[in-house]
Amino acid sequence: MIPEFEVTILGNTSSIPAHGRNHTAQVVRFGQECLLIDCGEGTQIQMRRYKIKSSRITHIFISHLHGDHYLGLMGVLSSYNLSKRTKPLTIFGPQGLDEIITTQFRWSNTKLTYPLTFVETRPDGLNVLLDHPRFKVSSFPLTHRLPTTGFLIEEKKGFRSLVKEKLAEKKIPLAAIQSLRKGEDYRGEDGTLYQLDVYTHPHPPLRSYAFCSDTRFEPELAKYLFEPTLLYHESTFMDCDAPRAAVTFHSTARDAATIANLIRAKALILGHFSSRYGDLQPMLEEAKTVFPTAALSEEGISYLV
Ligand SMILES: [Zn+2]
Ligand SMILES: [Zn+2]
Repeated sequence: MIPEFEVTILGNTSSIPAHGRNHTAQVVRFGQECLLIDCGEGTQIQMRRYKIKSSRITHIFISHLHGDHYLGLMGVLSSYNLSKRTKPLTIFGPQGLDEIITTQFRWSNTKLTYPLTFVETRPDGLNVLLDHPRFKVSSFPLTHRLPTTGFLIEEKKGFRSLVKEKLAEKKIPLAAIQSLRKGEDYRGEDGTLYQLDVYTHPHPPLRSYAFCSDTRFEPELAKYLFEPTLLYHESTFMDCDAPRAAVTFHSTARDAATIANLIRAKALILGHFSSRYGDLQPMLEEAKTVFPTAALSEEGISYLV
Protein backbone atom coordinates (compact mmCIF):
# COMPACT_ATOMS: atom_id res chain seq x y z
CA MET A 1 0.00 0.00 0.00
CA ILE A 2 1.25 3.50 -0.84
CA PRO A 3 1.41 5.64 2.33
CA GLU A 4 -0.32 9.02 2.22
CA PHE A 5 2.10 11.91 2.01
CA GLU A 6 0.65 15.33 2.72
CA VAL A 7 1.50 18.77 4.09
CA THR A 8 -0.91 20.77 6.24
CA ILE A 9 -0.26 24.51 6.37
CA LEU A 10 -0.74 26.01 9.84
CA GLY A 11 0.70 29.45 9.13
CA ASN A 12 1.80 31.39 6.07
CA THR A 13 2.49 34.98 7.11
CA SER A 14 5.84 36.73 7.43
CA SER A 15 7.01 38.94 10.31
CA ILE A 16 3.70 40.27 11.69
CA PRO A 17 0.50 38.18 11.96
CA ALA A 18 -2.10 40.01 9.87
CA HIS A 19 -5.24 39.48 7.78
CA GLY A 20 -6.03 36.34 9.81
CA ARG A 21 -2.76 34.75 8.75
CA ASN A 22 -0.38 33.11 11.24
CA HIS A 23 3.34 32.55 11.53
CA THR A 24 5.05 29.72 9.67
CA ALA A 25 4.36 26.13 10.72
CA GLN A 26 3.48 23.03 8.72
CA VAL A 27 2.77 19.41 9.58
CA VAL A 28 4.08 16.83 7.15
CA ARG A 29 2.41 13.43 7.40
CA PHE A 30 3.92 10.37 5.77
CA GLY A 31 1.72 7.37 6.60
CA GLN A 32 1.63 7.23 10.40
CA GLU A 33 4.65 9.52 10.85
CA CYS A 34 4.12 13.21 11.64
CA LEU A 35 6.79 15.88 11.37
CA LEU A 36 6.50 19.55 12.30
CA ILE A 37 8.36 22.04 10.13
CA ASP A 38 8.91 25.43 11.74
CA CYS A 39 6.91 26.41 14.78
CA GLY A 40 5.89 30.06 14.73
CA GLU A 41 3.92 31.69 17.53
CA GLY A 42 0.47 30.13 17.91
CA THR A 43 1.40 26.77 16.37
CA GLN A 44 -0.23 24.72 19.12
CA ILE A 45 -3.41 26.78 18.82
CA GLN A 46 -3.43 26.20 15.06
CA MET A 47 -2.91 22.48 15.59
CA ARG A 48 -5.97 22.38 17.83
CA ARG A 49 -7.98 24.45 15.37
CA TYR A 50 -7.23 22.04 12.54
CA LYS A 51 -7.51 18.88 14.68
CA ILE A 52 -3.88 17.83 14.26
CA LYS A 53 -2.94 15.26 16.90
CA SER A 54 0.19 17.00 18.15
CA SER A 55 1.16 13.96 20.26
CA ARG A 56 1.92 12.10 17.01
CA ILE A 57 4.74 14.49 16.13
CA THR A 58 8.10 12.78 16.66
CA HIS A 59 10.48 15.21 14.95
CA ILE A 60 10.53 19.02 14.71
CA PHE A 61 12.58 20.89 12.11
CA ILE A 62 13.35 24.61 12.58
CA SER A 63 14.66 26.53 9.56
CA HIS A 64 16.21 29.52 11.37
CA LEU A 65 16.00 31.65 14.48
CA HIS A 66 13.86 34.56 13.31
CA GLY A 67 10.98 34.65 15.79
CA ASP A 68 8.26 34.04 13.20
CA HIS A 69 9.69 30.52 12.67
CA TYR A 70 10.24 29.24 16.20
CA LEU A 71 8.57 31.32 18.93
CA GLY A 72 5.78 28.74 19.26
CA LEU A 73 8.21 26.01 20.19
CA MET A 74 8.23 26.53 23.96
CA GLY A 75 4.41 26.37 23.99
CA VAL A 76 4.39 23.06 22.15
CA LEU A 77 7.17 21.57 24.30
CA SER A 78 5.55 22.76 27.54
CA SER A 79 2.15 21.34 26.59
CA TYR A 80 3.76 17.96 25.89
CA ASN A 81 5.08 18.08 29.44
CA LEU A 82 1.70 19.02 30.90
CA SER A 83 0.11 16.10 29.05
CA LYS A 84 2.85 13.81 30.47
CA ARG A 85 4.22 12.83 27.10
CA THR A 86 6.71 9.95 27.28
CA LYS A 87 7.39 9.48 23.56
CA PRO A 88 10.88 10.75 22.59
CA LEU A 89 11.10 13.97 20.57
CA THR A 90 13.96 15.19 18.39
CA ILE A 91 14.41 18.81 17.35
CA PHE A 92 16.63 19.72 14.40
CA GLY A 93 17.61 23.37 14.28
CA PRO A 94 20.38 25.94 14.05
CA GLN A 95 23.14 26.48 16.55
CA GLY A 96 21.82 28.30 19.62
CA LEU A 97 18.34 26.79 19.66
CA ASP A 98 19.27 24.16 22.26
CA GLU A 99 20.60 26.92 24.53
CA ILE A 100 17.39 28.94 24.14
CA ILE A 101 15.24 25.93 25.08
CA THR A 102 17.48 24.77 27.92
CA THR A 103 17.64 28.26 29.44
CA GLN A 104 13.85 28.64 29.47
CA PHE A 105 13.31 25.23 31.05
CA ARG A 106 16.09 25.83 33.59
CA TRP A 107 14.55 29.10 34.82
CA SER A 108 11.07 27.58 35.03
CA ASN A 109 12.50 24.59 36.91
CA THR A 110 10.91 22.24 34.38
CA LYS A 111 11.79 18.55 34.40
CA LEU A 112 10.62 17.04 31.14
CA THR A 113 8.54 13.85 31.18
CA TYR A 114 9.91 12.83 27.76
CA PRO A 115 13.39 12.45 26.26
CA LEU A 116 14.23 15.54 24.19
CA THR A 117 17.16 15.40 21.79
CA PHE A 118 18.58 18.35 19.91
CA VAL A 119 20.45 17.98 16.63
CA GLU A 120 22.23 21.02 15.20
CA THR A 121 21.72 21.75 11.50
CA ARG A 122 24.47 23.19 9.29
CA PRO A 123 23.74 25.37 6.27
CA ASP A 124 26.69 24.01 4.29
CA GLY A 125 25.22 21.54 1.80
CA LEU A 126 22.72 18.74 1.56
CA ASN A 127 22.79 16.96 4.93
CA VAL A 128 20.67 13.93 5.79
CA LEU A 129 18.97 14.53 9.14
CA LEU A 130 16.53 11.64 9.39
CA ASP A 131 16.75 8.28 7.67
CA HIS A 132 13.41 6.51 8.11
CA PRO A 133 12.75 3.17 6.35
CA ARG A 134 10.21 4.85 4.05
CA PHE A 135 11.52 8.42 3.71
CA LYS A 136 14.53 10.63 4.23
CA VAL A 137 14.71 14.23 5.50
CA SER A 138 17.66 16.41 4.47
CA SER A 139 18.52 20.05 5.07
CA PHE A 140 19.94 22.37 2.43
CA PRO A 141 21.23 25.95 2.71
CA LEU A 142 19.10 29.01 2.01
CA THR A 143 20.42 32.56 1.66
CA HIS A 144 18.95 34.76 4.39
CA ARG A 145 20.11 37.20 7.09
CA LEU A 146 20.73 34.38 9.60
CA PRO A 147 22.02 30.83 9.04
CA THR A 148 18.96 29.18 7.46
CA THR A 149 18.15 25.80 5.99
CA GLY A 150 15.28 24.46 3.98
CA PHE A 151 14.14 20.84 4.28
CA LEU A 152 13.67 18.15 1.66
CA ILE A 153 11.53 15.10 2.43
CA GLU A 154 11.99 12.29 -0.07
CA GLU A 155 10.08 9.04 -0.28
CA LYS A 156 12.20 5.90 -0.49
CA LYS A 157 11.38 2.88 -2.60
CA GLY A 158 9.05 0.55 -0.70
CA PHE A 159 8.12 -3.06 -1.49
CA ARG A 160 6.65 -3.66 -4.93
CA SER A 161 3.11 -4.98 -5.05
CA LEU A 162 2.51 -8.38 -6.64
CA VAL A 163 0.25 -9.04 -9.64
CA LYS A 164 -2.55 -11.06 -8.02
CA GLU A 165 -3.57 -12.88 -11.25
CA LYS A 166 -0.04 -14.22 -11.64
CA LEU A 167 -0.03 -15.49 -8.05
CA ALA A 168 -3.27 -17.35 -8.73
CA GLU A 169 -1.88 -19.03 -11.87
CA LYS A 170 0.71 -21.15 -10.14
CA LYS A 171 2.40 -21.68 -6.84
CA ILE A 172 5.32 -19.31 -6.46
CA PRO A 173 8.06 -20.11 -3.92
CA LEU A 174 8.17 -17.86 -0.86
CA ALA A 175 11.80 -16.93 -1.61
CA ALA A 176 10.71 -15.72 -5.06
CA ILE A 177 7.94 -13.59 -3.57
CA GLN A 178 10.36 -12.04 -1.10
CA SER A 179 12.88 -11.13 -3.76
CA LEU A 180 10.26 -9.85 -6.20
CA ARG A 181 8.78 -7.57 -3.52
CA LYS A 182 12.26 -6.21 -2.85
CA GLY A 183 12.61 -5.41 -6.54
CA GLU A 184 14.76 -8.29 -7.80
CA ASP A 185 14.19 -11.07 -10.34
CA TYR A 186 14.40 -14.59 -8.89
CA ARG A 187 15.60 -17.85 -10.40
CA GLY A 188 14.28 -21.01 -8.73
CA GLU A 189 16.33 -24.18 -8.14
CA ASP A 190 14.58 -25.77 -11.14
CA GLY A 191 15.77 -22.91 -13.33
CA THR A 192 12.40 -21.09 -13.51
CA LEU A 193 12.89 -17.36 -13.84
CA TYR A 194 10.45 -15.08 -12.00
CA GLN A 195 10.74 -11.69 -13.65
CA LEU A 196 10.01 -8.48 -11.86
CA ASP A 197 8.04 -6.85 -14.65
CA VAL A 198 5.82 -9.94 -15.03
CA TYR A 199 5.06 -10.61 -11.38
CA THR A 200 4.98 -7.12 -9.85
CA HIS A 201 3.43 -3.74 -10.58
CA PRO A 202 5.90 -0.97 -11.37
CA HIS A 203 6.66 1.32 -8.44
CA PRO A 204 4.81 4.64 -8.77
CA PRO A 205 7.15 7.64 -9.14
CA LEU A 206 8.79 8.53 -5.82
CA ARG A 207 7.38 11.67 -4.19
CA SER A 208 9.27 14.53 -2.57
CA TYR A 209 8.46 17.76 -0.77
CA ALA A 210 10.82 20.75 -0.64
CA PHE A 211 10.32 23.50 1.94
CA CYS A 212 12.10 26.80 1.31
CA SER A 213 11.32 29.05 4.28
CA ASP A 214 13.12 32.40 4.14
CA THR A 215 15.56 33.09 1.33
CA ARG A 216 16.43 35.61 -1.27
CA PHE A 217 16.26 34.50 -4.92
CA GLU A 218 18.79 31.67 -4.95
CA PRO A 219 19.41 29.77 -8.22
CA GLU A 220 22.02 27.65 -6.36
CA LEU A 221 19.04 25.73 -4.97
CA ALA A 222 19.19 23.74 -8.20
CA LYS A 223 22.24 22.01 -6.72
CA TYR A 224 20.04 20.41 -4.06
CA LEU A 225 16.54 20.22 -5.49
CA PHE A 226 15.45 18.52 -8.69
CA GLU A 227 11.87 17.87 -9.78
CA PRO A 228 10.23 17.88 -6.34
CA THR A 229 6.60 16.75 -6.47
CA LEU A 230 5.66 19.77 -4.38
CA LEU A 231 7.65 22.91 -3.65
CA TYR A 232 6.72 25.40 -0.93
CA HIS A 233 8.66 28.58 -1.54
CA GLU A 234 8.48 31.82 0.37
CA SER A 235 6.92 34.70 -1.52
CA THR A 236 7.13 37.58 0.91
CA PHE A 237 6.86 40.39 -1.63
CA MET A 238 5.63 41.29 -5.10
CA ASP A 239 7.83 42.63 -7.88
CA CYS A 240 6.84 46.22 -7.07
CA ASP A 241 8.58 45.75 -3.69
CA ALA A 242 11.68 44.01 -5.08
CA PRO A 243 14.07 46.55 -3.45
CA ARG A 244 12.57 45.65 -0.05
CA ALA A 245 12.97 41.93 -0.87
CA ALA A 246 16.65 42.51 -1.69
CA VAL A 247 17.38 44.38 1.56
CA THR A 248 15.61 41.81 3.76
CA PHE A 249 16.89 38.72 1.89
CA HIS A 250 13.43 37.60 0.86
CA SER A 251 11.88 36.51 -2.45
CA THR A 252 9.12 37.90 -4.61
CA ALA A 253 6.33 35.80 -6.12
CA ARG A 254 8.15 35.99 -9.45
CA ASP A 255 11.37 34.75 -7.79
CA ALA A 256 9.56 31.78 -6.23
CA ALA A 257 7.98 30.86 -9.58
CA THR A 258 11.34 31.21 -11.35
CA ILE A 259 12.94 28.80 -8.87
CA ALA A 260 10.04 26.36 -9.36
CA ASN A 261 10.74 26.40 -13.11
CA LEU A 262 14.48 26.12 -12.64
CA ILE A 263 14.24 23.00 -10.47
CA ARG A 264 11.33 21.66 -12.54
CA ALA A 265 8.96 21.40 -9.58
CA LYS A 266 5.72 19.55 -10.39
CA ALA A 267 3.69 21.92 -8.21
CA LEU A 268 4.32 25.16 -6.32
CA ILE A 269 2.62 26.67 -3.30
CA LEU A 270 3.55 30.15 -2.10
CA GLY A 271 3.72 31.36 1.50
CA HIS A 272 5.31 33.72 4.06
CA PHE A 273 3.25 36.65 2.79
CA SER A 274 4.05 40.18 3.96
CA SER A 275 1.40 41.92 6.04
CA ARG A 276 1.45 44.76 3.47
CA TYR A 277 -0.73 42.65 1.16
CA GLY A 278 -4.30 42.00 2.26
CA ASP A 279 -5.51 40.68 -1.08
CA LEU A 280 -3.08 38.05 -2.39
CA GLN A 281 -4.64 37.56 -5.84
CA PRO A 282 -2.28 40.03 -7.57
CA MET A 283 0.65 38.14 -6.05
CA LEU A 284 -0.73 34.87 -7.37
CA GLU A 285 -1.21 36.38 -10.83
CA GLU A 286 2.42 37.53 -10.78
CA ALA A 287 3.64 34.01 -9.97
CA LYS A 288 1.38 32.48 -12.62
CA THR A 289 2.97 34.54 -15.38
CA VAL A 290 6.09 32.42 -14.75
CA PHE A 291 4.68 29.16 -13.31
CA PRO A 292 1.07 28.82 -14.52
CA THR A 293 -0.10 26.28 -11.90
CA ALA A 294 1.28 28.20 -8.90
CA ALA A 295 -1.09 28.33 -5.91
CA LEU A 296 -1.33 30.35 -2.70
CA SER A 297 -0.90 28.19 0.39
CA GLU A 298 -3.96 28.29 2.64
CA GLU A 299 -4.00 27.70 6.37
CA GLY A 300 -5.82 24.55 7.41
CA ILE A 301 -5.52 23.02 3.95
CA SER A 302 -3.64 19.75 3.43
CA TYR A 303 -1.74 19.40 0.17
CA LEU A 304 -1.05 15.95 -1.21
CA VAL A 305 2.56 15.45 -2.21
ZN1 LIG B 1 10.22 34.59 8.30
ZN1 LIG C 1 13.68 35.04 8.47
